[in-house]
Amino acid sequence: MSMQLDFSAKRVLVTGSTMGIGRAAAEGFHELGATVAINGRSAKSVAKTIAEMGGGERLIAAPGDLSKVAEIHKVVPAAIAALGGLDILVNNAGRGDEALIDDIDEAHWQSMLALNLKGAFFTIQACLPALKESKGNIVNVASMLGVMGGPAGNIVYSTTKGAMVNMTREMALGLARDGVRVNNLCPGWTDTPMIQNENMLSGDDALYKYIDAECPMGRIGEVRETTGAILYLSSANAGYTTGSTLVADGGLSSGH
Ligand code: NAD
Repeated sequence: MSMQLDFSAKRVLVTGSTMGIGRAAAEGFHELGATVAINGRSAKSVAKTIAEMGGGERLIAAPGDLSKVAEIHKVVPAAIAALGGLDILVNNAGRGDEALIDDIDEAHWQSMLALNLKGAFFTIQACLPALKESKGNIVNVASMLGVMGGPAGNIVYSTTKGAMVNMTREMALGLARDGVRVNNLCPGWTDTPMIQNENMLSGDDALYKYIDAECPMGRIGEVRETTGAILYLSSANAGYTTGSTLVADGGLSSGH
């Protein structure tokens, strides 16, 4: 077996791939030969992403709001049909809204669960027939806040990500005999629009300063560092790895 990463002829769906971690992963797969379905909430952002990535036959538009099961049931089968099957699902779409205990209302719970957990589950369910056929694999993008507690305001977010970590283990067990691997990537602080927006709200680069001080490696992560982990987990090099949690957090969770 070649240890080189090569995804030519692989068919990949990356959810939430118009920016941030998902976008970088989609670019990584595409550069290494895969055909990639790009997803984001709006057709416009998906078309813009595909144009920025150079267009061509190996990029498929798969816009749709994955917090709604009815939409998942439209978007995912259409993407799989356009790809001609599916080898890899990267379940990345997620939101990181913050709220303190006393301010958390039902709408906050509903919107966070709807995308981060329910959306992830039903996306996997819709992909399973194709993944069983190809003996493919799934990478769930959880968070270091799935394996540790974090700053105030992240209670519901952490809850969804912790649940995703254990959902991955259950799915890995349930699908092992089908030849479908399921793994978690738990990123730590990673420089994406999600964090850039939060940093702007914090004023005076307060969030970036906090991250640099808090993280054992003394810096925020770059998206290419999550891409490397996603490509590894979904490659044949990780062929005996299922149900595992790979943490890419500059050492932060090691101290907790
Ligand atoms: P981001 O906000 O920069 O990008 C999110 C992507 O998801 C975008 O492409 C957006 O269009 C898409 N998206 C949002 N809502 C959607 C919906 N309802 N349906 C379909 N797509 C939707 O976020 P990011 O920082 O790149 O985070 C990606 C994933 O990584 C998330 O699951 C997040 O929780 C996780 N994560 C991020 C960090 C970090 O520090 N950036 C750390 C740990 C985990």
